[in-house]
Amino acid sequence: MTRWLAEYAWLPEDAEPTPDVLIEATDGRLTAVTPLTGGGPPAAGVTVDAVRLPGLTLPGLANAHSHAFHRALRGRTHAGRGDFWSWRDPMYAVAARLDPDSYLALARAAYAEMALAGITCVGEFHYLHHGPDGTRYDDPNVMSEALVEAAAHAGIRLTLLDAAYLTAGVDGAELVGPQRRFDDGDALRWAERVDAFRPTDGHVRRGAAIHSVRAVPAGQLATVAGWADRHGLPLHAHVSEQPAENDACRAVHGCTPTRLLADHGALGRHTTAVHATHPTAADVTLLGDSGTGVCLCPTTERDLADGIGPARRIAEAGSPLSLGSDSHAVVDLFEEARAVELDERLRTRRRGHFTAAELLAAATVTGHVALGWGDAGRLAVGDRADLVTVRLDSARTAGVPPVGVFFAATAADVTQVVVDGRTVVADGRHLTVDVPTELRDSIAVVTS
Ligand SMILES: [Zn+2]
Repeated sequence: MTRWLAEYAWLPEDAEPTPDVLIEATDGRLTAVTPLTGGGPPAAGVTVDAVRLPGLTLPGLANAHSHAFHRALRGRTHAGRGDFWSWRDPMYAVAARLDPDSYLALARAAYAEMALAGITCVGEFHYLHHGPDGTRYDDPNVMSEALVEAAAHAGIRLTLLDAAYLTAGVDGAELVGPQRRFDDGDALRWAERVDAFRPTDGHVRRGAAIHSVRAVPAGQLATVAGWADRHGLPLHAHVSEQPAENDACRAVHGCTPTRLLADHGALGRHTTAVHATHPTAADVTLLGDSGTGVCLCPTTERDLADGIGPARRIAEAGSPLSLGSDSHAVVDLFEEARAVELDERLRTRRRGHFTAAELLAAATVTGHVALGWGDAGRLAVGDRADLVTVRLDSARTAGVPPVGVFFAATAADVTQVVVDGRTVVADGRHLTVDVPTELRDSIAVVTS
């Protein structure tokens, strides 16, 4: 058994953190979470035999939407003009250069950066399936295997959301150039390939993804959704990130992307719509009534000039909100969380849309549920022993009350990260990966 004594810990359902919490775990599971103050503090002079965690300890953060290889683009596209559509050109250039070895190296470094930021679980929305010209590798899931190994090295859990990406547009245009490596041919062959991918490691689970209504023909949406449903696995889809996607969908199908997904059985409690930046009022109702989750990626949405989604309306309609770093322009779930509130302020010119506890839930438990880990994201007995400790004595956080952490802290304030009971980050350093060096070297391979 391992015991930690947190100076503050944020317990489930609480509006704010609790001081002096004893946390115990055995075999990667929390076995006791005991506030000492309420339950009788140790008598003066009596020491508790536990690892001290100065600062605020949170449950593990879940990054519900990632494309690991986009990390190579940070700082390379941000000064340019253009929009989401022109940004894709350098993104495709990196995609074209990756092979299983360089993908492993880049993803390992990107996931280790996530660990440093307190992310204990990542949802990888994965579509780099085949060789650069579209030829299948001998093992058609070798790129998925690279991601599984990368997450193992980085010490975090992974949900491999295997994305069907079959066409270049809503009109069914064929994939060309660098996009050919995304292509399984059709949804049945996609299902055949993902059926063959059976990771046995405890840190990985499977899931499915519809890249978008641009990338999966309407007649094949149900095949992907049905596969996820049959296996009881999460299904994710990019939805209405751009107005042009809505316009194209209306032109071809006479409805919005959300309506199209609903009509083909792709919405529901196990589905997460990523972005939902430009939904109609009817879309918001469809998402909420079906219990479909929505994953917001505010730092990417602002970087790509996507727009600001109606986060509060989406939440009130019934969609659980999760967070993702998506393109990794920023890997910092504190920044993503406060952006949900602050962007809503910019949109509405009013303050106070989300409580601190709601932002915590989006960064932790809801994200884990969206990735198929219903047993993580809370400091609760029986849950996975994920602990993320944030210092309250940095230049950013000194003098900040613990409840204000989501409005003050950055990823750089994370000092200690425990995943499934195992310490991955201590004193702000990754224990097994030299993160800056590995990021520099792995990015140089695919960009130089
Ligand atoms: Zn994405």
